[in-house]
Amino acid sequence: MKTKTLKKDKVNIITLGCSKNMVDSEVLSGQLLANNIDTVHENTKKDHNIVVVNTCGFIDKAKEESVNTILEQVSLKKKGKLDKVYVTGCLSHRYREDLAKEIPEVDAWFGTMELPLMLKKFEADYKTELVGERLLATPGHYAYLKIAEGCNRTCAFCAIPLMRGSHVSRPVEELVREAESLVRRGVKEILLIAQELTYYGLDLYKKRMLPELLNRLADVKGLEWIRLHYAYPSKFPLEILDVIRERDNICNYLDMPLQHASDRMLKAMRRQITRAEMNELIHTIRERVPGICLRTTLIAGFPGETQEDVEELKDFLREHRFDRVGIFTYSHEEGTGAYELEDTIPAEEKQRRAEEIMEVQQEISYGKNQEKLGCVFRTLVDKKEAGRYLGRTEFDSVEVDNEVIIHSDRKLQPGDFINVKITKAYDYDLEGEVV
Ligand code: SF4
Repeated sequence: MKTKTLKKDKVNIITLGCSKNMVDSEVLSGQLLANNIDTVHENTKKDHNIVVVNTCGFIDKAKEESVNTILEQVSLKKKGKLDKVYVTGCLSHRYREDLAKEIPEVDAWFGTMELPLMLKKFEADYKTELVGERLLATPGHYAYLKIAEGCNRTCAFCAIPLMRGSHVSRPVEELVREAESLVRRGVKEILLIAQELTYYGLDLYKKRMLPELLNRLADVKGLEWIRLHYAYPSKFPLEILDVIRERDNICNYLDMPLQHASDRMLKAMRRQITRAEMNELIHTIRERVPGICLRTTLIAGFPGETQEDVEELKDFLREHRFDRVGIFTYSHEEGTGAYELEDTIPAEEKQRRAEEIMEVQQEISYGKNQEKLGCVFRTLVDKKEAGRYLGRTEFDSVEVDNEVIIHSDRKLQPGDFINVKITKAYDYDLEGEVV
């Protein structure tokens, strides 16, 4: 009989994919710890005997990374370094039958909404009183707050509704309690996330409740920054713009994936919006919240996309001069609306188009950064790396946006708010000194 590697179980949670997946890992760790099961995230000490791989199944690259991570852990188990390997998250939710046949060494596979079932494997009970309590995987000064799960939209390229189900909003009271608990634990910045943030409340309260939620969260004492991610452009609730403008601790920042700008592509992608409507929305946003930082995400290489469509997208970027842009290459996902279309554009060509589009954005970003020379920005210190302090202004979200390289004579701590005068400006990042 194989002996256990450790007297007392210790669980390592490995999280892949997006911030929403990270929150799920944090919730799992909170439940395990509350059941006296020693749990860590991304354990570098390697002194654990059980692994939970929380996978991503969004696009090809992410799926590949998830499978490789599972295989790595399974090979450690074969070498007797691990007792159990469990897999959860989007990839498991979507392909568990096939994966279980291909990788039989995995002890159990779980879907995205099977936490209580997974806890049973640890002879642990799901503790409802713990809702909102989690072991943060982020540094202590910022945290994600997932305000809803799932999505009711039908974007043709997107497999998320297949893995996360339809939109389910969390109650306002529960979210406010969670924010208060996070602030008590030292969190200063909360990043609001969902698959589709702007749909918040339509299921639970039969009306859009994001403005109300934002005001309630902005009332939380000690919460310095509230940041909005994943807004959807169609039927955009303009009322949130007044709340962003009026409440000081809501960052002048909005992440709103638009995916494309050619009407032909927007229609084929089922984005329920036209270029003209997006133009009008962007103008309204900038009018109602002067100086707002607009982030968007785009897709290159959707089936049927022509160079003409790419040119139109580049023109759109030049017209609106977004502050932050991210881009993905199209991934042909079975079960999505676009899967019926022929994925005729070669991967290299998709990549070439993505780079061509980002070249336009790089110029825009460089130009915008030059305008910041000599300006002073309130900056949140994130970390010290290679002897340099790195931080972010309210116009920069974690991991996806720009950083400020900070020169300081005095010692700084992650979570410190300082004023930085910009002395150098690069394509994306800024550099400056504490004033
Ligand atoms: S809004 Fe569209 S892209 Fe976003 S999760 Fe929903 S279906 Fe996917």
